[in-house]
Amino acid sequence: MDDFLSRAKALDAADELSSYRDQFYFPETPGDHCVYFTGNSLGLQPKAVRDAIEVELDDWAKYGVEGHFDARNPWFSYHELLMKPAADLVGAKREEVVHMNGLTTNIHLLMVSFYRPTQERYKIICEAKAFPSDQYAVESQVKFHGFDPADAIVEVKPREGEHTIREEDIEAAIAEHGDSVALVFWGGVNYYTGQLFDIERITKAGHAAGAMVGIDLAHGAGNVPLQLNQWGVDFAAWCSYKYLNSGPGSVSGIFVHEKHHTSDLPRFAGWWGYNKEKRFQMEQGFDPIPSAESWQLSNAPVFVMAPHLASLKIFAEVGMEKLRAKSVKLTNFLEEVILSVAKSKGATIEIITPSETDRRGAQLSLLTHGYGKEVFKKLQDAGVVADWREPNVIRIAPVPMYNSFEDCYLFGKILSESL
Ligand SMILES: *Cc1c(COP(=O)(O)O)cnc(C)c1O
Repeated sequence: MDDFLSRAKALDAADELSSYRDQFYFPETPGDHCVYFTGNSLGLQPKAVRDAIEVELDDWAKYGVEGHFDARNPWFSYHELLMKPAADLVGAKREEVVHMNGLTTNIHLLMVSFYRPTQERYKIICEAKAFPSDQYAVESQVKFHGFDPADAIVEVKPREGEHTIREEDIEAAIAEHGDSVALVFWGGVNYYTGQLFDIERITKAGHAAGAMVGIDLAHGAGNVPLQLNQWGVDFAAWCSYKYLNSGPGSVSGIFVHEKHHTSDLPRFAGWWGYNKEKRFQMEQGFDPIPSAESWQLSNAPVFVMAPHLASLKIFAEVGMEKLRAKSVKLTNFLEEVILSVAKSKGATIEIITPSETDRRGAQLSLLTHGYGKEVFKKLQDAGVVADWREPNVIRIAPVPMYNSFEDCYLFGKILSESL
């Protein structure tokens, strides 16, 4: 392990993002250090968040209702502040991105527009073992339209003996169901295995079958490079509290491709999606803003957007390119440490996340055989914050924004002591 320690120190010294760690609060944990590897579930709090919320509290106290126009960040247009920095993260144009509601709510609202089944074309292609909320959303949408989930939902699984799903199998499933496919709905990065999918390839395959393509980016946004506009994805949605560090339950982002902005896609409407110049004339008939903003229903929830804005400022400063470059190094280093510890301890730890860097983000999922829960407990007692998924997977995510190479070394050291 000494060799890994000296390498970790050298890598940290050479890391130009190393100082960002100081901009976050680390929780109190047992042991001498907190090794926080759960940024894929709840990102750490940026220290700037408190001030960002206080600005809004002060302006509310000072201006009351006039804060809609007189606040330092006028609430009338507050959501607009988030559009550009979030669009840069997901490879979109500013007007293709907006923030509203929670993720699952947005999946439903987007399916209202993008899942328009007919008797001939009604199927949804999705990943087997998708995040439960996505499964419930898809199933309830199918039922809402009067179809039978057993017939209308086509799940693509890993092959026998494999843990991840091959893109060629997704293409084959889409081609097989062809004209009956209404929507391909896929997770960009799988929450359980950490597999990063070739979103461009899936989008092409969906479009070739004449279907719409939607991507859940809960584990993708702020984690991996994305080019949603260029890839032609029809819609996407993500939450802001995982890699995007904006606090529990914070506001969700959506992407609607520009090609749909002036189409007559049906959508559930509210006043915040209405033409801004005429919003207060309160006239009958919906006049949508020709952008993703027209999917907004309500006025901006400023107190959840303030943390997100503070966090997006940090992302804008760092940039996805540098973040990804560090992420690849960090995850590769952690993988090497784990495999080395397992070998020296004669333990079987199978990393089910793909080993190719372009097929994964910051997460590694460790399949433990038999002894998993016990080891997990020991890791926790020594200050590691990781995530246990039944029946036997430990998920860890070295997050490039605030984790260090020394964190990876420390994880290895604690793992070695726990095995
Ligand atoms: C985290 C996560 C969610 C959570 O949904 P909320 O509506 O934000 O509670 C949904 N889908 C996926 C794929 C997730 O990873």
